[in-house]
Amino acid sequence: MRYNLHTHTYRCRHASGSDREYVEAAIKAGMKTLGFADHCPQFFPNGYYSTFRMRPEAAAEYVESLRALKKEYKDDIDILIGFETEYYPELFGKFMEFIEPLELDYMIMGQHFIHNEYEVPDYYASNPSYDDAKQYVRQTLEGLRTGAFTYIAHPDILRHEDSVFYRELMTYFCRQLKEMNIPVEYNILGYRNKKWYPNPIFWQAAAEVGNKVVLGYDAHEPGALLEQNHFDACMGYLNALGITPVNFEDVEIRKPVLKVR
Ligand SMILES: [Zn+2]
Ligand SMILES: [Zn+2]
Repeated sequence: MRYNLHTHTYRCRHASGSDREYVEAAIKAGMKTLGFADHCPQFFPNGYYSTFRMRPEAAAEYVESLRALKKEYKDDIDILIGFETEYYPELFGKFMEFIEPLELDYMIMGQHFIHNEYEVPDYYASNPSYDDAKQYVRQTLEGLRTGAFTYIAHPDILRHEDSVFYRELMTYFCRQLKEMNIPVEYNILGYRNKKWYPNPIFWQAAAEVGNKVVLGYDAHEPGALLEQNHFDACMGYLNALGITPVNFEDVEIRKPVLKVR
């Protein structure tokens, strides 16, 4: 049965369409579960503010709007409310305090930066050094160990020119993710917009390791949920590798609460 746990809204300022349009597109596409995971607010020091996220003051209204739709469409589709979130160790505690009253259903990790964003804001677009590539893996794994995340979005967003090194690092990454029972997302938007991910080297590694795989639309416009051709192409690619994406029932939805240490 079709589902999607990676849906954005206009609040992040680079997605379009109303919340209702996403819900109706998902129903039309035959989905039984639609999860919203818009780019969450982040609280940076030094006055830095990222331009591609929801503002903190929009968060309550985001949740309210989706709760109303959840109720209204409950006979047609199950709506889950979450965020796509980076793991910035020094900011994470404050972030978790901020989201507590929102009572989100889940979060996915979308790590677009190594270290943090406010000091080196364009990192994701560059080819990181060997050390920084390893840091990406260390940092995401540390974040996932908090237990606050349901899966990792575009785990192959990291680029590296050294394919031997990359394959080895991604194989290690996949093994760790499997051990933690964290599904890896095959990002349909990356395929659709011909980004540098999905990266075939990563997906070969994931096939060998036997990771749990989720297909994520990463929808930034309602119509994307209706593009059957992209879904079919991604599914076909994974199947050829021997990968069958898991059903929704096999995704362990984790409530984003910090584990008591
Ligand atoms: Zn986005
Ligand atoms: Zn996303």
